[in-house]
Amino acid sequence: MVHGCRFVGKGRVRARVIRQGISRSAVLYRYVAGLPTDGYQWAYGAGAGAGLIPTNDGQTCVFVSTTPERMCGLRRYGVEHAFSELLVQAAPTLRDPVVTATPAGPIRGWGGVPGYLRRCWGAGWALVGDAGYFKDPITTHGMTDAMRDAELFSAEEGTPTYVTRFDGVRVPATDYQPVWVTNLADDVTIEGSAMNGVAQGAEAVRSIVTYIRSLYDDQEFNFAAPYGENGFLEDYTAWVRGEQLGNVVLVTRNAAGQAQRVVANYWPRTTLLLVSRLVGEHFGGTPTASTSPPAPSSDPRYKPGGTRGRPRSAVPGSHSATRAR
Ligand SMILES: Cc1cc2nc3c(=O)[nH]c(=O)nc-3n(C[C@H](O)[C@H](O)[C@H](O)COP(=O)(O)OP(=O)(O)OC[C@H]3O[C@@H](n4cnc5c(N)ncnc54)[C@H](O)[C@@H]3O)c2cc1C
Repeated sequence: MVHGCRFVGKGRVRARVIRQGISRSAVLYRYVAGLPTDGYQWAYGAGAGAGLIPTNDGQTCVFVSTTPERMCGLRRYGVEHAFSELLVQAAPTLRDPVVTATPAGPIRGWGGVPGYLRRCWGAGWALVGDAGYFKDPITTHGMTDAMRDAELFSAEEGTPTYVTRFDGVRVPATDYQPVWVTNLADDVTIEGSAMNGVAQGAEAVRSIVTYIRSLYDDQEFNFAAPYGENGFLEDYTAWVRGEQLGNVVLVTRNAAGQAQRVVANYWPRTTLLLVSRLVGEHFGGTPTASTSPPAPSSDPRYKPGGTRGRPRSAVPGSHSATRAR
């Protein structure tokens, strides 16, 4: 479990950013004593915000915020000047009570960080708080979210992760089986990063998938659930001859709910090449070493196998070019 917005890049977890914002705000804040407040106060002016947050020992946190560019310009005349200018801009009525209160510490500044959302879980790790999802402090939800994340994480720890099978049944990830393999359309196709083209037909697809699964020393499902209107996603980690293999499988259903198109994206390349070679050796010269073009798909994004009219073997590592069926 990792907390904190600056922890991830420098630490051991290299989680991918899946949403990146561009805006950020710069903040100045200080604690003062003797400022009568009966709760939070937030104020907004042209390009500036300010607020009062009552805290311990009769002290109040007073903050002002604006764009980093404006903050830089104002700070050229001193941090006290910037603080007072922004306070007047955002909350003119707060200026006098704040300047007559007793400072309980120096003014502190923060330059801002654009918001982001990282992929925040994986096998054996999770990001909570700012490490997974950072939002501008003007939202004032950062601490709440960090505590909620930590609470959810500790509640989940020790309890099994649940995933949803192709047939809609929810099971613990450790009990998961890819039941879509037993519900293939007759003209189902399979393709992916370990293949040079597309293999077609229920028998061919089942034998490729079954053989690849037989190579796994171990397999751990991170995620499985329906995706979009007709899709189904699996995300798992497996081990082949001691090498780690990641795979995200996208299965698209036909109108009858059967698996119609299977796309598997394996990584890293070294294990992908190992699997590709093993599968190629296994199926080389058999009808499953198919070059058959896929049936026209109703999915407009679909571009058949990239063969550009030149026959290629669909089965990885195989150089034979026989047709299935
Ligand atoms: C100016 C400002 C005002 C804010 N105001 C509010 C507000 O009013 N309300 C609100 O809810 N939220 C507010 N937030 C957001 C809130 O502070 C954060 O969302 C919250 O603190 C996130 O908690 P966290 O535990 O994820 O990370 P952090 O609080 O950042 O904790 C991470 C900790 O990890 C430590 N650390 C970092 N790297 C390492 C390392 N390599 N090894 C060991 N330790 C490490 C850090 O020192 C830090 O102590 C504000 C943020 C800012 C910047």
